[in-house]
Amino acid sequence: MAQNDFDRRKFLRNSLIGGAGVLLASPLIAQEQDARPEPAADEAPVITRKLGKTGIELPIVSFGVMRADSPALIKAAIAAGMVHFDTAHGYQNGKNEEMLGNIFKDYKRESFVISTKVKPIDAGSGGETEPGAVKKAFLEKLDISLGRLKMDYVDILYVHDRSSRSAVLSPEMLEAVTEAKKAGKAKHVGVSTHRNEPEVIRAAIETGVYEVVLTSINFKQGHLAEVRKAIAEAAQAGVGIVAMKTMAGGFHDKERTKPVNCRAALKFVMNDANITTSIPGITNFDQLAMNAGVNRDLALTEAEQSDLALLDGLREGLYCQGCQQCVPNCSKGLPIPDLMRAYMYTYGYADNQQAHTLLKSLGLGDDPCAGCAECTAVCAKDFALSERIGDIMRLTKVPAEFIS
Ligand code: SF4
Ligand code: SF4
Repeated sequence: MAQNDFDRRKFLRNSLIGGAGVLLASPLIAQEQDARPEPAADEAPVITRKLGKTGIELPIVSFGVMRADSPALIKAAIAAGMVHFDTAHGYQNGKNEEMLGNIFKDYKRESFVISTKVKPIDAGSGGETEPGAVKKAFLEKLDISLGRLKMDYVDILYVHDRSSRSAVLSPEMLEAVTEAKKAGKAKHVGVSTHRNEPEVIRAAIETGVYEVVLTSINFKQGHLAEVRKAIAEAAQAGVGIVAMKTMAGGFHDKERTKPVNCRAALKFVMNDANITTSIPGITNFDQLAMNAGVNRDLALTEAEQSDLALLDGLREGLYCQGCQQCVPNCSKGLPIPDLMRAYMYTYGYADNQQAHTLLKSLGLGDDPCAGCAECTAVCAKDFALSERIGDIMRLTKVPAEFIS
């Protein structure tokens, strides 16, 4: 039996027993359970790191809940030693937060760490807004999120999807998160970013307000050295860093015949000691076993290094690094990085719902490239841009209720 199979079976046996115990006991001992169980004696210790100056200490691998819909999976993760669960106001139209609320109401509040992300209405909405309207809408969304989560506060509140210094320095958003903290609705505040990460990280440091940055980082980024440099500056300044998009889309091709070695990709990122934790998306027990294993073993094997080098050497892939190089040459100035992210959600993550939500939020109609005789936008990763846009925009013609 391969070592990985053995680890997986052992993990499933242990975690499912733990998960079942939680499941059976929860209605009877609400609020008394601790989401930080004692580790088994024969296990390597979980590697933990401090999240900047927040005082929070976390295992290096946390749980990205975005696509998860199984309470049993979350409970198995708790049994496996995970304590940090990351969601967002928009995930699964609120059902993601509701699921976590229904689970964690049975655990001691201080024994787990919840983050949620709220996207301000300035992004992608267009048009003018009344003074204070962005802040008001943001705080209203936070209240809705807290209601779904059945919690008085979240441990980390992110202003979601920031991609420029000016967006991070927005006085209205700085006021909003400061108010949320004062009201006791957020213990700590941060920003999340899918692109232009070095600028966003440095701007977050500059504010002196944001305590955490959730950033894309992976082995496929052409600008990885610059991302790492900004992360080191954040660590120096006491701003905590949480990693996302570590798997670079999960697959290299649309047909899903070239999977990324996700364990290797995760280890690659988390070997940077300036990064506190990561939130890989987990949707099944195999993925959970793999990710939980990295929490106890960060060493990259030679085979894992070879796998990463092989994929890194290939052009294209599903991961758009958000470099924006294509945008100036697009005759219509389309938000191509967002369109490519939706493409990755569908073909890499098999998450049509998230792709549909993102595409609809862009408000581009069904055929944004219509009337463009020739595609003049050139991708740094050789993506066939107009082809991919036409492909993914088909999703917008499907009513939301038909998308699972
Ligand atoms: S075809 Fe190319 S240049 Fe034209 S709108 Fe589409 S992405 Fe932009
Ligand atoms: S050039 Fe390619 S990788 Fe860069 S933002 Fe555009 S689509 Fe993404």
